[in-house]
Amino acid sequence: TVKDKYAVFGNPIKHSKSPIIHAAFAAQCAQAMQYRAVRVDLGGFDRAANKFFADGGKGLNITLPFKEDAFRFAGRLSERASRARAVNTLNLAADGVIEGDNTDGVGLVRDMVANLGWVVRGLRVLIIGAGGAVRGVLEPLLRERPEGILIVNRTASRAEQLAAEFTDLGAISGGGYELIEECQFDLVINASSAGLEGETPEMPSSILTERSCCYDMLYAAEPTPFMRWAAHHAAWAVTDGVGMLVEQAAQSFYIWRGLRPETQSVIASIRGGTQAA
Ligand code: NDP
Repeated sequence: TVKDKYAVFGNPIKHSKSPIIHAAFAAQCAQAMQYRAVRVDLGGFDRAANKFFADGGKGLNITLPFKEDAFRFAGRLSERASRARAVNTLNLAADGVIEGDNTDGVGLVRDMVANLGWVVRGLRVLIIGAGGAVRGVLEPLLRERPEGILIVNRTASRAEQLAAEFTDLGAISGGGYELIEECQFDLVINASSAGLEGETPEMPSSILTERSCCYDMLYAAEPTPFMRWAAHHAAWAVTDGVGMLVEQAAQSFYIWRGLRPETQSVIASIRGGTQAA
């Protein structure tokens, strides 16, 4: 059988788990598809994407640092992607238009709500970091109707500007770390990439209550620095971002193939795999 071609574009891309995840989904749903990880040169996104679709490719995932290039590349955008101004999924639609979507936020919300049983409605939410990942998750998070979202970032102006783009969807503000002093949060989401260097942004433990949930978008073999910080300060629940990773992939798979794969077993095997690695 001829297999439909899919890929993930990024740089670096070597450690991407997406090929394993999509191979598991394809096997589970009996789909004839191949999915490769492709390292694209910086500045070479359009050329590589044009070639991929010209050669018969059906869909792409896009990761760092090309999500904004993909946003510009798409011929049509979902509402959440146009809000995010970042695209992580491209799909060749039936009419030949390449559609852009962003499944990061749906993935995060589905992991929190369906897998972990966390209810976002009415919560005081803190997001640490204001990069591409946060851009992608704000619309779906605000649709869950939290009491409010505060974004804090090392570069305060980025958090301020990002929050300002979403104020019509709910109570949201942003700025520097000083804003969290003397505040408490029910849900703390770490979306800073400091953990990649084994660090975590410095935060007072007074922001946590005994009911606080802590979500690190990062995932690694070991508990991340942010997870260790949260556990040390007795957060009620702590998780890494493997569930988000698998759920955003499942949403991309649904866009491409119209089928919803079962995710629990894939989350468990990725988690087992990262721990064994
Ligand atoms: P970006 O590079 O776009 O943003 C990085 C963010 O981290 C910025 O807000 C930056 O602050 C902040 N930051 C970096 N280093 C430090 C530091 N030493 N101290 C404090 N803040 C720091 O990355 P993304 O938004 O794309 O990704 C963020 C994280 O989320 C990554 O760890 C990534 O792996 C993870 N992720 C997980 C996904 C999943 O499915 N689980 C999906 C997407 C991302 P500043 O603006 O000041 O530079």
